[in-house]
Amino acid sequence: MNHDYRLARERMVKSQLIPRGIRDKGVLEAMGKIHRHLFVEEALAGEAYNDHPLPIGHKQTISQPYIVALMTEALELTGKGKTLEIGTGSGYQAAILAELSERVYTIERIMPLMAKARHLLHELGYTNIMFKAFDGTMGWKEYSPYDAIIVTAGAPRIPEPLLDQLADGGRMVVPVGNRFSQELIKIKKSNNQYKKENLGGCRFVDLIGIHGWKEKP
Ligand code: SAM
Repeated sequence: MNHDYRLARERMVKSQLIPRGIRDKGVLEAMGKIHRHLFVEEALAGEAYNDHPLPIGHKQTISQPYIVALMTEALELTGKGKTLEIGTGSGYQAAILAELSERVYTIERIMPLMAKARHLLHELGYTNIMFKAFDGTMGWKEYSPYDAIIVTAGAPRIPEPLLDQLADGGRMVVPVGNRFSQELIKIKKSNNQYKKENLGGCRFVDLIGIHGWKEKP
């Protein structure tokens, strides 16, 4: 069935995002526009706009729509500048970022997920997203500094290389905590000082890497 889920998208914005305080017009527009159901398995398309995360294979998830909106809003994107994402996953968050940044750099450690996301985002016509299969806890030094950095997996601590690769005036969001629950931390860098704000509790899959968790055996 050819279904574009327009009503489901509208309902998601009106019932999950606005009532919880998402105000950034760009974020609301991007989330109302992007076809989230294309980023999940066809069998789950009907659930894509529901108020929870969904599996995307390889024991990974596409985040709950509200969390995507909250993290994106915290990045204070203006349509200009460079954004780095750690954890491409399905590519949905990268599409949102691409609507609101000049260029997006996204890193994923699971090669087949990265390949699938790259293929889909290319098909959807995005030309401002660059992909890398790597340990994102090391960042992507070559294109640094970044105006915004988003980590979409739970970290034991804020990865040091990411702080170094954040531009002066830059914003970063990262879930930090243990393997079961984290706090969403927003960091603003100015004059090499970091101002931190706690945006609330959350639960993400593990950030695995040199500056993250060790992979479970
Ligand atoms: N942003 C994704 C989306 O829109 O679908 C959801 C990301 S999912 C919650 C977290 C992702 O982070 C997983 O795909 C996982 O493989 C990836 N990941 C975990 N550790 C990583 C690392 N060190 N570098 C890059 N990706 C990592």
